[in-house]
Amino acid sequence: VKGEGRGAVRFFEPAMDAQLQARRQMEHELGLAIERDELRLFYQPVVHGDTGEIEAFEALIRWQHPDRGLVPPAEFIPLAEQTGLIDRIGAWVIDAACAAAASWGRPWPVSVNVSPSQFQHTDVPVMVASALTRHGLDPARLIVEITESVFIQDADAAVAVLTRLRALGVRLALDDFGTGYSSLSYLQRFQFDTIKIDRSFVGRLAQHADTLTIVRAIVNLGHNLGLRVVVEGVETAEQLGILRGLGCDRMQGYLFGRPAPVLAVSDLERARTRA
Ligand code: C2E
Ligand code: CA
Ligand code: CA
Ligand code: CA
Repeated sequence: VKGEGRGAVRFFEPAMDAQLQARRQMEHELGLAIERDELRLFYQPVVHGDTGEIEAFEALIRWQHPDRGLVPPAEFIPLAEQTGLIDRIGAWVIDAACAAAASWGRPWPVSVNVSPSQFQHTDVPVMVASALTRHGLDPARLIVEITESVFIQDADAAVAVLTRLRALGVRLALDDFGTGYSSLSYLQRFQFDTIKIDRSFVGRLAQHADTLTIVRAIVNLGHNLGLRVVVEGVETAEQLGILRGLGCDRMQGYLFGRPAPVLAVSDLERARTRA
Protein backbone atom coordinates (compact mmCIF):
# COMPACT_ATOMS: atom_id res chain seq x y z
CA VAL A 1 0.00 0.00 0.00
CA LYS A 2 3.04 2.23 0.49
CA GLY A 3 3.39 4.77 -2.27
CA GLU A 4 -0.31 4.86 -3.05
CA GLY A 5 -2.35 7.96 -2.29
CA ARG A 6 -3.97 8.17 1.09
CA GLY A 7 -7.36 8.36 -0.63
CA ALA A 8 -6.80 5.00 -2.32
CA VAL A 9 -5.90 3.37 0.97
CA ARG A 10 -9.00 4.71 2.63
CA PHE A 11 -11.10 3.66 -0.35
CA PHE A 12 -10.06 0.01 -0.08
CA GLU A 13 -10.09 -0.20 3.67
CA PRO A 14 -13.70 -1.34 4.22
CA ALA A 15 -13.32 -4.16 1.67
CA MET A 16 -9.99 -5.24 3.15
CA ASP A 17 -11.56 -5.16 6.56
CA ALA A 18 -14.42 -7.36 5.47
CA GLN A 19 -12.02 -9.83 3.88
CA LEU A 20 -9.79 -9.96 6.94
CA GLN A 21 -12.84 -10.27 9.14
CA ALA A 22 -14.16 -13.22 7.12
CA ARG A 23 -10.75 -14.87 7.27
CA ARG A 24 -10.52 -14.43 11.04
CA GLN A 25 -14.03 -15.78 11.43
CA MET A 26 -13.16 -18.84 9.35
CA GLU A 27 -9.92 -19.37 11.26
CA HIS A 28 -11.83 -19.17 14.55
CA GLU A 29 -14.45 -21.66 13.35
CA LEU A 30 -11.84 -24.01 11.90
CA GLY A 31 -10.07 -23.97 15.25
CA LEU A 32 -13.28 -25.30 16.82
CA ALA A 33 -14.12 -27.76 14.05
CA ILE A 34 -12.45 -30.73 15.73
CA GLU A 35 -14.17 -30.38 19.10
CA ARG A 36 -17.45 -29.62 17.33
CA ASP A 37 -16.98 -32.84 15.36
CA GLU A 38 -17.35 -31.10 12.00
CA LEU A 39 -14.44 -32.68 10.14
CA ARG A 40 -15.14 -35.67 7.92
CA LEU A 41 -13.00 -38.05 5.93
CA PHE A 42 -14.29 -39.19 2.56
CA TYR A 43 -12.72 -42.21 0.90
CA GLN A 44 -11.93 -42.71 -2.77
CA PRO A 45 -10.93 -46.10 -4.15
CA VAL A 46 -7.66 -46.77 -5.92
CA VAL A 47 -8.32 -49.70 -8.22
CA HIS A 48 -6.40 -52.22 -10.21
CA GLY A 49 -6.58 -51.05 -13.81
CA ASP A 50 -7.33 -54.46 -15.31
CA THR A 51 -9.62 -56.08 -12.77
CA GLY A 52 -11.23 -53.03 -11.17
CA GLU A 53 -10.40 -54.61 -7.84
CA ILE A 54 -9.94 -52.20 -4.93
CA GLU A 55 -6.27 -51.69 -4.01
CA ALA A 56 -6.69 -49.06 -1.32
CA PHE A 57 -8.68 -46.00 -0.33
CA GLU A 58 -7.42 -42.44 -0.13
CA ALA A 59 -8.82 -40.43 2.78
CA LEU A 60 -9.81 -36.91 1.72
CA ILE A 61 -10.90 -34.34 4.27
CA ARG A 62 -14.06 -32.23 4.18
CA TRP A 63 -15.46 -29.73 6.65
CA GLN A 64 -19.12 -30.18 7.43
CA HIS A 65 -19.86 -26.55 8.29
CA PRO A 66 -23.22 -25.76 9.93
CA ASP A 67 -23.96 -22.88 7.49
CA ARG A 68 -21.63 -23.37 4.58
CA GLY A 69 -22.35 -27.07 4.07
CA LEU A 70 -19.65 -29.49 2.97
CA VAL A 71 -16.50 -27.40 2.47
CA PRO A 72 -13.82 -28.92 0.17
CA PRO A 73 -10.19 -29.02 1.36
CA ALA A 74 -9.04 -26.40 -1.17
CA GLU A 75 -11.13 -23.86 0.77
CA PHE A 76 -9.64 -24.46 4.21
CA ILE A 77 -6.44 -26.53 4.08
CA PRO A 78 -4.36 -23.56 2.84
CA LEU A 79 -5.71 -21.46 5.74
CA ALA A 80 -4.98 -24.30 8.13
CA GLU A 81 -1.42 -24.45 6.81
CA GLN A 82 -0.89 -20.70 7.14
CA THR A 83 -2.21 -20.56 10.69
CA GLY A 84 -0.69 -23.75 12.08
CA LEU A 85 -4.12 -25.33 12.61
CA ILE A 86 -2.99 -28.04 10.17
CA ASP A 87 -0.94 -29.67 12.91
CA ARG A 88 -4.01 -30.55 14.97
CA ILE A 89 -6.16 -31.24 11.92
CA GLY A 90 -3.44 -33.46 10.46
CA ALA A 91 -3.21 -35.43 13.68
CA TRP A 92 -7.00 -35.86 13.61
CA VAL A 93 -6.80 -37.10 9.98
CA ILE A 94 -4.19 -39.75 10.79
CA ASP A 95 -6.14 -40.97 13.79
CA ALA A 96 -9.53 -40.99 12.04
CA ALA A 97 -8.15 -42.78 8.97
CA CYS A 98 -6.51 -45.49 11.10
CA ALA A 99 -9.74 -45.92 13.08
CA ALA A 100 -11.77 -46.22 9.88
CA ALA A 101 -9.43 -48.69 8.19
CA ALA A 102 -9.34 -50.84 11.33
CA SER A 103 -13.15 -50.99 11.23
CA TRP A 104 -13.41 -52.07 7.59
CA GLY A 105 -14.24 -55.70 7.13
CA ARG A 106 -11.44 -56.05 4.60
CA PRO A 107 -7.70 -55.35 4.93
CA TRP A 108 -7.65 -52.47 2.44
CA PRO A 109 -4.85 -50.00 2.94
CA VAL A 110 -5.78 -46.36 3.60
CA SER A 111 -3.75 -43.40 2.42
CA VAL A 112 -3.59 -40.06 4.16
CA ASN A 113 -2.30 -36.72 2.90
CA VAL A 114 0.28 -35.10 5.14
CA SER A 115 1.19 -31.42 4.77
CA PRO A 116 4.81 -30.24 4.73
CA SER A 117 4.13 -28.03 7.75
CA GLN A 118 3.22 -31.11 9.82
CA PHE A 119 6.71 -32.40 9.13
CA GLN A 120 8.16 -29.18 10.49
CA HIS A 121 6.06 -28.69 13.61
CA THR A 122 4.98 -32.11 14.77
CA ASP A 123 6.60 -35.48 15.19
CA VAL A 124 4.68 -37.32 12.45
CA PRO A 125 6.26 -40.76 13.08
CA VAL A 126 5.32 -40.63 16.79
CA MET A 127 1.81 -39.53 15.85
CA VAL A 128 1.50 -42.32 13.29
CA ALA A 129 2.88 -44.96 15.65
CA SER A 130 0.42 -44.05 18.38
CA ALA A 131 -2.56 -44.02 15.98
CA LEU A 132 -1.57 -47.46 14.64
CA THR A 133 -1.28 -48.85 18.16
CA ARG A 134 -4.46 -47.17 19.39
CA HIS A 135 -6.53 -48.73 16.61
CA GLY A 136 -4.59 -51.96 16.21
CA LEU A 137 -3.90 -51.27 12.55
CA ASP A 138 -1.18 -53.16 10.69
CA PRO A 139 1.40 -50.50 9.66
CA ALA A 140 1.50 -52.00 6.17
CA ARG A 141 -2.10 -50.81 5.76
CA LEU A 142 -1.20 -47.15 6.15
CA ILE A 143 0.12 -45.11 3.23
CA VAL A 144 1.44 -41.62 3.86
CA GLU A 145 1.11 -39.32 0.86
CA ILE A 146 3.40 -36.33 0.60
CA THR A 147 4.27 -33.91 -2.16
CA GLU A 148 7.78 -32.89 -3.12
CA SER A 149 7.25 -29.53 -1.38
CA VAL A 150 8.06 -31.40 1.84
CA PHE A 151 11.70 -31.29 0.74
CA ILE A 152 11.86 -27.55 0.08
CA GLN A 153 12.55 -26.25 3.60
CA ASP A 154 15.06 -28.81 4.79
CA ALA A 155 15.46 -31.84 2.57
CA ASP A 156 17.73 -33.74 4.97
CA ALA A 157 15.27 -33.32 7.84
CA ALA A 158 12.43 -34.51 5.59
CA VAL A 159 14.40 -37.58 4.52
CA ALA A 160 15.12 -38.36 8.17
CA VAL A 161 11.41 -38.23 9.05
CA LEU A 162 10.47 -40.35 6.03
CA THR A 163 13.10 -42.89 7.02
CA ARG A 164 11.57 -43.14 10.50
CA LEU A 165 8.12 -43.60 8.96
CA ARG A 166 9.49 -46.31 6.71
CA ALA A 167 11.00 -48.03 9.78
CA LEU A 168 7.50 -48.24 11.29
CA GLY A 169 6.45 -50.29 8.27
CA VAL A 170 4.12 -47.72 6.71
CA ARG A 171 4.21 -47.10 2.97
CA LEU A 172 5.16 -43.79 1.40
CA ALA A 173 3.71 -42.24 -1.73
CA LEU A 174 4.97 -39.23 -3.67
CA ASP A 175 1.80 -37.35 -4.64
CA ASP A 176 1.14 -35.02 -7.58
CA PHE A 177 4.15 -36.50 -9.35
CA GLY A 178 5.38 -34.50 -12.32
CA THR A 179 3.90 -31.14 -11.30
CA GLY A 180 6.90 -29.83 -9.36
CA TYR A 181 10.30 -28.83 -10.61
CA SER A 182 12.33 -31.65 -9.19
CA SER A 183 10.16 -34.75 -8.95
CA LEU A 184 12.90 -36.85 -10.50
CA SER A 185 15.63 -35.74 -8.14
CA TYR A 186 13.49 -36.65 -5.11
CA LEU A 187 13.10 -40.18 -6.44
CA GLN A 188 16.85 -40.40 -5.99
CA ARG A 189 16.85 -38.93 -2.52
CA PHE A 190 14.30 -41.27 -1.03
CA GLN A 191 12.98 -44.72 -1.87
CA PHE A 192 9.22 -44.23 -2.14
CA ASP A 193 6.82 -47.15 -2.54
CA THR A 194 4.41 -45.39 -4.85
CA ILE A 195 4.28 -42.42 -7.16
CA LYS A 196 0.97 -40.82 -8.03
CA ILE A 197 0.87 -39.21 -11.46
CA ASP A 198 -0.99 -35.92 -11.19
CA ARG A 199 -4.39 -35.72 -12.77
CA SER A 200 -3.42 -32.72 -14.90
CA PHE A 201 -1.62 -35.20 -17.18
CA VAL A 202 -4.62 -37.47 -17.54
CA GLY A 203 -6.87 -34.60 -18.58
CA ARG A 204 -4.66 -33.92 -21.62
CA LEU A 205 -3.92 -37.54 -22.44
CA ALA A 206 -6.41 -38.02 -25.23
CA GLN A 207 -5.64 -34.70 -26.96
CA HIS A 208 -1.88 -34.33 -26.71
CA ALA A 209 0.59 -36.83 -28.10
CA ASP A 210 3.34 -35.25 -26.00
CA THR A 211 1.39 -35.84 -22.80
CA LEU A 212 0.98 -39.47 -23.76
CA THR A 213 4.74 -39.76 -24.26
CA ILE A 214 5.42 -38.15 -20.89
CA VAL A 215 2.97 -40.38 -19.03
CA ARG A 216 4.38 -43.47 -20.73
CA ALA A 217 7.88 -42.43 -19.66
CA ILE A 218 6.81 -41.84 -16.04
CA VAL A 219 5.01 -45.19 -15.87
CA ASN A 220 8.03 -47.03 -17.26
CA LEU A 221 10.41 -45.14 -15.00
CA GLY A 222 8.31 -45.97 -11.94
CA HIS A 223 8.01 -49.61 -12.83
CA ASN A 224 11.72 -49.91 -13.61
CA LEU A 225 12.45 -48.47 -10.17
CA GLY A 226 10.17 -51.10 -8.66
CA LEU A 227 7.52 -48.56 -7.62
CA ARG A 228 3.77 -48.79 -7.68
CA VAL A 229 2.41 -46.20 -10.09
CA VAL A 230 -1.05 -44.76 -9.52
CA VAL A 231 -2.62 -42.52 -12.14
CA GLU A 232 -5.00 -39.96 -10.65
CA GLY A 233 -8.09 -38.36 -12.14
CA VAL A 234 -9.21 -41.07 -14.56
CA GLU A 235 -12.67 -39.94 -15.67
CA THR A 236 -13.42 -41.57 -19.02
CA ALA A 237 -13.34 -45.00 -20.61
CA GLU A 238 -11.16 -43.50 -23.32
CA GLN A 239 -8.53 -42.50 -20.75
CA LEU A 240 -8.76 -45.92 -19.15
CA GLY A 241 -8.12 -47.57 -22.52
CA ILE A 242 -5.09 -45.41 -23.24
CA LEU A 243 -3.66 -45.96 -19.75
CA ARG A 244 -4.10 -49.72 -19.99
CA GLY A 245 -2.23 -49.56 -23.28
CA LEU A 246 0.63 -47.84 -21.44
CA GLY A 247 0.82 -50.67 -18.92
CA CYS A 248 -0.65 -48.60 -16.11
CA ASP A 249 -1.94 -50.93 -13.46
CA ARG A 250 -3.32 -48.70 -10.73
CA MET A 251 -5.84 -45.94 -11.14
CA GLN A 252 -7.96 -43.53 -9.22
CA GLY A 253 -10.71 -41.29 -10.51
CA TYR A 254 -14.39 -40.55 -10.87
CA LEU A 255 -14.68 -43.38 -13.42
CA PHE A 256 -14.13 -45.86 -10.58
CA GLY A 257 -15.63 -43.95 -7.69
CA ARG A 258 -15.89 -40.50 -6.20
CA PRO A 259 -14.77 -39.77 -2.68
CA ALA A 260 -17.60 -40.88 -0.40
CA PRO A 261 -18.33 -41.19 3.33
CA VAL A 262 -17.28 -44.42 4.95
CA LEU A 263 -20.73 -45.98 4.80
CA ALA A 264 -20.59 -45.97 1.03
CA VAL A 265 -17.38 -48.01 1.15
CA SER A 266 -19.21 -51.14 2.21
CA ASP A 267 -21.92 -50.41 -0.37
CA LEU A 268 -19.23 -50.19 -3.00
CA GLU A 269 -17.75 -53.51 -1.93
CA ARG A 270 -21.18 -55.14 -1.93
CA ALA A 271 -21.82 -53.80 -5.41
CA ARG A 272 -18.49 -55.15 -6.60
CA THR A 273 -18.93 -58.62 -5.18
CA ARG A 274 -22.42 -58.79 -6.70
CA ALA A 275 -21.07 -57.83 -10.12
P1 C2E B 1 -4.90 -34.81 -3.83
O1 C2E B 1 -4.20 -35.42 -2.68
O2 C2E B 1 -4.17 -34.75 -5.13
O3 C2E B 1 -6.29 -35.56 -3.96
C1 C2E B 1 -6.91 -35.86 -5.17
C2 C2E B 1 -8.00 -34.86 -5.49
O4 C2E B 1 -8.52 -35.13 -6.79
C3 C2E B 1 -9.21 -34.97 -4.55
O5 C2E B 1 -9.77 -33.66 -4.41
C4 C2E B 1 -10.15 -35.85 -5.34
O6 C2E B 1 -11.52 -35.69 -4.96
C5 C2E B 1 -9.92 -35.35 -6.72
N1 C2E B 1 -10.26 -36.32 -7.74
C6 C2E B 1 -10.17 -37.67 -7.66
N2 C2E B 1 -10.54 -38.25 -8.83
C7 C2E B 1 -10.86 -37.24 -9.66
C8 C2E B 1 -11.33 -37.20 -11.02
O7 C2E B 1 -11.52 -38.21 -11.70
N3 C2E B 1 -11.55 -35.96 -11.54
C9 C2E B 1 -11.35 -34.81 -10.84
N4 C2E B 1 -11.61 -33.65 -11.43
N5 C2E B 1 -10.91 -34.82 -9.56
C10 C2E B 1 -10.68 -36.02 -8.99
P2 C2E B 1 -10.17 -33.10 -2.97
O8 C2E B 1 -10.78 -34.17 -2.15
O9 C2E B 1 -10.95 -31.84 -3.21
O10 C2E B 1 -8.77 -32.74 -2.35
C11 C2E B 1 -7.97 -31.73 -2.90
C12 C2E B 1 -6.61 -31.67 -2.25
O11 C2E B 1 -6.73 -31.29 -0.87
C13 C2E B 1 -5.90 -33.03 -2.22
O12 C2E B 1 -5.31 -33.28 -3.48
C14 C2E B 1 -4.89 -32.78 -1.13
O13 C2E B 1 -3.79 -32.07 -1.61
C15 C2E B 1 -5.68 -31.89 -0.16
N6 C2E B 1 -6.21 -32.74 0.94
C16 C2E B 1 -7.30 -33.51 0.96
N7 C2E B 1 -7.44 -34.13 2.17
C17 C2E B 1 -6.38 -33.73 2.92
C18 C2E B 1 -5.94 -34.02 4.25
O14 C2E B 1 -6.55 -34.81 5.00
N8 C2E B 1 -4.80 -33.39 4.67
C19 C2E B 1 -4.10 -32.54 3.86
N9 C2E B 1 -2.99 -31.98 4.35
N10 C2E B 1 -4.48 -32.26 2.60
C20 C2E B 1 -5.61 -32.84 2.13
CA1 CA C 1 -3.22 -37.32 -2.31
CA1 CA D 1 -2.59 -35.94 -6.05
CA1 CA E 1 -2.66 -32.16 -4.53
